[in-house]
Amino acid sequence: MPHKTNTNPKQTLKAGAIICPICCVELIEEEVDFEIDGAILHNVKLLRCPICQEEQFTPQQQQAIEEQLRRQET
Ligand SMILES: [Zn+2]
Repeated sequence: MPHKTNTNPKQTLKAGAIICPICCVELIEEEVDFEIDGAILHNVKLLRCPICQEEQFTPQQQQAIEEQLRRQET
């Protein structure tokens, strides 16, 4: 297993406030059913721009998705 080193200091950007780079508005957290590679994940949290509907995931949300996918693997 590769070793991960956390050498980066935590970013001091406002946590939980991610801005759409196109519209410059705060993205809104939503819970959706999400399909990825044929697997349906329920209650997946993502961030959506209320204007352009662009979806983004925070690193934590991506991690949660990967964990759900791993759990669904047979
Ligand atoms: Zn937008």
